[in-house]
Amino acid sequence: SRQWISGEAHAAKIIFIAIKLNGVQRGLISEIISQFQCKGFKLVVIKIVVPSKDFPKKHYHDLKERPFFNGLCDFLSSGPIVAMVWEGEGVIKYGRKLIRATDPKKSKPGTIRGYLAIVLIILFPCKNIIHGSDRPETAKDEINLWFKPRELVSYSSNAEKWIYGVN
Ligand code: GDP
Ligand code: MG
Repeated sequence: SRQWISGEAHAAKIIFIAIKLNGVQRGLISEIISQFQCKGFKLVVIKIVVPSKDFPKKHYHDLKERPFFNGLCDFLSSGPIVAMVWEGEGVIKYGRKLIRATDPKKSKPGTIRGYLAIVLIILFPCKNIIHGSDRPETAKDEINLWFKPRELVSYSSNAEKWIYGVN
């Protein structure tokens, strides 16, 4: 069947964003969505999910040697997560800037982690609220991990001419 991510040009324009359960519990879903939506990015796919026990291990497979890995994975399978795909020009670069440093203490005010979180403690479950893919290849892998093909929809937005259009 046809791939939902249609090629490199498309892959460069999409990011997987997850609001971790502490963001959900604190009522920050709409605030985080607003940050991306008000910029002009398009929310293409969204669902709320409680990951199975082993699922976060797949998502964070590159961190398996780190001391906080098991705690992080247990934490992320212990409650609801909002999984999303956002689309737009430069969405990965901008999204990572908007999310900012892994440690909220090092994140400037006005960034999501700077604005909405205070700390990250080395061996305790993460309090940094949000995940965002760091490059097109990871975005692609993460989207394919978190969503079944039938969950991946596409639509064109009438706002695009007001965001990108030259006239
Ligand atoms: P990110 O891309 O900024 O989210 O950071 P990384 O990809 O390096 O790490 C993934 C996630 O692992 C982070 O968002 C945190 O939830 C968690 N993490 C990273 N470093 C630490 C740490 O030192 N302690 C704890 N408890 N969690 C960490
Ligand atoms: Mg990362």
